[in-house]
Amino acid sequence: MTDTGMTAPEPTAIDETRQRELQILSEDAVLKGHPHGDEQCKNCLYYLDVDEAISYCWHPKLRVLVGQDWYCQWWEEITAEA
Ligand code: SF4
Repeated sequence: MTDTGMTAPEPTAIDETRQRELQILSEDAVLKGHPHGDEQCKNCLYYLDVDEAISYCWHPKLRVLVGQDWYCQWWEEITAEA
């Protein structure tokens, strides 16, 4: 490996804090990076923009970006009134 004199970027304290926060949030939601049968974020009430592969989940306990084929225990069917 060539020594360029440049230091490699490293995570900082805020990154470690955010990682812990998001890990707890993810575990509480039982968030998975794959569907649960037919249930997935793109057909969940809380997935904000169904045309996007990654979108905002507005579930009050999450409020994070998720992938359209992810899933969590708070999946909710989209009803006709929604
Ligand atoms: S509530 Fe769960 S399943 Fe629904 S969009 Fe958010 S993360 Fe996905």
